[in-house]
Amino acid sequence: MTDIIEKLFRTGDLTDGELEALIETEDTEAAALLRERADQVRRESYGDKVFLRGLIEISSFCRNDCLYCGIRRSNKDAERYRLSPEDILACADEGYRLGFRTFVMQGGEDAFFTDSILCGLIREIKQRHPDCAVTLSLGERSEESYRLLREAGADRYLLRHEAASDELYGKLHPAEMSLAKRKECLFTLKRLGYQVGAGFMVGAPYQTTKHIIEDLRFLQELQPQMIGIGPFVPHHNTPFADEKGGTLGLTLRLLGILRLMFPKVLLPATTALGTISPTGREQGLKTGCNVVMPNLSPVSVRKKYDLYDNKICTGEEAAECRGCLQRRIESAGYSVAQERGDAAGFFTGNDDQRRNT
Ligand code: SAH
Repeated sequence: MTDIIEKLFRTGDLTDGELEALIETEDTEAAALLRERADQVRRESYGDKVFLRGLIEISSFCRNDCLYCGIRRSNKDAERYRLSPEDILACADEGYRLGFRTFVMQGGEDAFFTDSILCGLIREIKQRHPDCAVTLSLGERSEESYRLLREAGADRYLLRHEAASDELYGKLHPAEMSLAKRKECLFTLKRLGYQVGAGFMVGAPYQTTKHIIEDLRFLQELQPQMIGIGPFVPHHNTPFADEKGGTLGLTLRLLGILRLMFPKVLLPATTALGTISPTGREQGLKTGCNVVMPNLSPVSVRKKYDLYDNKICTGEEAAECRGCLQRRIESAGYSVAQERGDAAGFFTGNDDQRRNT
């Protein structure tokens, strides 16, 4: 394993056979070396900085029916809510006061959020907080829609590809969704000049090592600026209620591998990772992660954005995720960056000029 890890560290790539061995190893010395190399590379790219993204969960209405997700449309027990534009702007204002310089608007695919409503919101956030980046994570939309949102000032878009194998994608999603469409959305977003985030769940039902290698190869082709991975966590009201969840060990191995394959990528230590282990996010940070996404949603709706069971930071006690995460980041040996945190080497140019072209 040592040779394989050192080769990945030196060259940024491995053969499928080597990847398979590394993905599957339970060896603790291998885990320790992978962590050390991943941390070395993240420090070369980003120093000890960790970027914060204020997550605003704008809606739990969703027209999609992804089999793993607690807010799928078939879950009749899901509590639905949507934030008003005023609520969302208030979250951003509060977030700005707390020091956030990126806001992520995430939600189900909710027809209420038309292009015109979203464009108005993006423009208003950008006008109030010109030094902030706006990220969207609102699923599949038309090219025209992505273009309008970009012109309104959106900087980044998170859309996990979920599974780069057609066969696995088909088992995780209803027949009306397709991997081809997902990929097309991702390439369109890139072409429109967004900083793009793709990614997948670790330990999803039916997922094998071969599928994971396909995910890594797809990411090499797409070259996204951000990669979001986290363990699959079952939700009690979905067809996958009784499936096993993804493990901490495999998720950490993949984070380390991703950091070595993509030295400059923005890699979040996700909420799902913090959900399966109390120290999950800290361990993620020590294995190459350089982003955390504290929840900025109003406490009254947090439980309703219920993608999977036992999601952390949904109670009254978690109202202020900013301070808690800052302490966790510092205790892990890193520091909170007070900036937008664009991907290293990504040219953002002159925002105003870009918006007018
Ligand atoms: N509707 C948006 C946002 C989805 S929520 C979109 O389609 O992009 C963000 C991510 O949560 C999803 O991409 C998925 O990978 C993850 N997720 C959903 N259900 C999950 C579960 N049960 N366990 C872990 N992650 C889950």
